[in-house]
Amino acid sequence: MTKETGRAPVQDALRIVIVGGVAGGMSAAARARRLDEHAEIIVLEQGAYVSFANCGLPYHLSGEIAGRDELLPHTPASLAESLNLDVRTGHRVTVIDRAAKKITIQAGQNTYALAYDALLLSPGAVAVRPPIEGLDHPSVHTLRTVPDVDALRARIDDLVAARGQSQPGPSAVVIGAGFIGLEAVEALTARGLAVHLVELADHVLPPLDAELAPLLTDELTTHGVDLRLGVSAQAVRAGATMPVTLGGSISESQKAGSPVPVTVTLSDGATLAADLVIVNVGVKPASALALDAGLELGPSGAIRVDADQHTSDPHIWAVGDAVEVTQAITGARIPVPLAGPANRQGRRAADSICGRRTTPQAPVLGTAIVRVFGLTAATTGANQATLRRAGIAHEVMHIHPGHHAGYYPGSEPLHLVASFAPDGTLLGAQGVGRAGVDKRIDILATAIRAGMTADDLAELELAYAPPYGSAKDPVNMLGFVAQNVLDATMPQWQAQDLNKALTTTLVLDVRSRPEYEQGHIDGALNIPHLELRQRLGEVTALAAKGKVSVYCASGVRSYLATRVLLSAGFQARNLSGGWLTLQALHPELC
Ligand SMILES: Cc1cc2nc3c(=O)[nH]c(=O)nc-3n(C[C@H](O)[C@H](O)[C@H](O)COP(=O)(O)OP(=O)(O)OC[C@H]3O[C@@H](n4cnc5c(N)ncnc54)[C@H](O)[C@@H]3O)c2cc1C
Repeated sequence: MTKETGRAPVQDALRIVIVGGVAGGMSAAARARRLDEHAEIIVLEQGAYVSFANCGLPYHLSGEIAGRDELLPHTPASLAESLNLDVRTGHRVTVIDRAAKKITIQAGQNTYALAYDALLLSPGAVAVRPPIEGLDHPSVHTLRTVPDVDALRARIDDLVAARGQSQPGPSAVVIGAGFIGLEAVEALTARGLAVHLVELADHVLPPLDAELAPLLTDELTTHGVDLRLGVSAQAVRAGATMPVTLGGSISESQKAGSPVPVTVTLSDGATLAADLVIVNVGVKPASALALDAGLELGPSGAIRVDADQHTSDPHIWAVGDAVEVTQAITGARIPVPLAGPANRQGRRAADSICGRRTTPQAPVLGTAIVRVFGLTAATTGANQATLRRAGIAHEVMHIHPGHHAGYYPGSEPLHLVASFAPDGTLLGAQGVGRAGVDKRIDILATAIRAGMTADDLAELELAYAPPYGSAKDPVNMLGFVAQNVLDATMPQWQAQDLNKALTTTLVLDVRSRPEYEQGHIDGALNIPHLELRQRLGEVTALAAKGKVSVYCASGVRSYLATRVLLSAGFQARNLSGGWLTLQALHPELC
């Protein structure tokens, strides 16, 4: 017995060493402590901060999270006090000697070795460095760490102070319109910068299906963002006094021709003047340490782990952005750099290290969400491009219901796209809107995880009162529409097939005359849906072989019309998502 505690001394306490002290690493450390009071738990973090809120960084940049300390809920001292963790910041692990079960650590000028019983790797990801000349210019920033956001805030404060309230505002170029790029655009705009957004893909937020992306484009443009799609940044060069070329919105500072520190040259020859540049074109797994140690990596370069987060070495576990997961729909082994999986994996790895029952890693859906000014965009499961690439048969449904009962004030349109397998299984869903997107995508993510079908969605019982939803919730509506399509109650056609519809069928617009006159498909016959029963003869006269492709604004009236036509013996089909979806994919119609 020891004098201090009266308890038996702990012999052979497990030494758990964790590399990386943020999402996955700290989740593992905290769980391990809760499971094993006696383990020696050492967390090694190369940076100056641990357990920081990296997902909150864009909101500190914008000023919404005003206090920097809010991002830093823990310090090594607080973690020692609350969880008895030995957290060492500024300590970088450089070598893993698997045979000796030792690691080498670089801490400032010192190098030392540390033995482990269990080693957990949570080194995260590294930013992809695109082939752009001049990325080392001091005005080029990334947005991944606390020092990154400190540098950006300091720079913006200087710019704003230097220009003063009455002067033209500063400007920025954001390269990459992914989740973090869009958050950066929003934050910079909130700080008063004129922002140019450069994206190589032909639409913003490339994981989003093409027909939803134009909603984000409009929102960005409305907030003054100058979008450059389908082009790459080629070079960042030291400043010049120059105007923007090749059109697009021009910030006041550029109009005034005031000096700016950099110009960014794009692949289409345009040049953009800016006070600062943020590059965010994606990440890749930080797996160099694991590779050097001979751990097995997958073709994606991510660390290969089993369902318990074990690497190919029985004494080493790995979690987070650095590891491969199984994508739920395609079965592909890929990294999915998101906070949720990293935190859950950290917990699981700690369970495994401490000899507890683990909840095996479930296939990952990649559920993600982003706010773009007043809009929310969210996605779960496989998008259409992924399904096509994987050769997975699917039928796509588009709906545009209100986020709550239309008769209750404030109903906002909710744009939902979902893909179903021929047997009705939900494969993926995406949504964009001003309200209610998060709730629906979370329900649909749960539905995919549970293997639910269109029938299950139709029968889901969801909370309803007019301020919150509808008696037939948008999720139920997706189920109803999918049931109708899959059992041929309502055959449908897709906006991508417009040219085929025009050449092989009669295209019938069943909207009102004023709607038709505001914009329509050239060559479409307009018969408002309430007149259709009386005017079937006109359809018979014009529809070769009785084939009719119907559309209305959102797909609801054309559904009714399609039923009338089918009952009258026509081969009718309804445009999925109606004119709203068609316009998004065919902007030339507007
Ligand atoms: C700005 C930003 C916003 C984000 N927003 C969201 C969001 O809204 N939603 C979402 O789901 N995800 C978001 N993410 C992604 C999410 O933060 C990551 O998926 C998650 O943090 C991954 O956890 P991890 O433990 O694998 O890596 P990290 O949390 O990145 O931690 C890895 C740590 O390991 C350290 N390290 C690496 N190598 C070594 C070494 N050799 N020795 C010692 N230390 C080392 C690194 O310095 C780093 O601090 C965001 C990321 C960023 C950067």
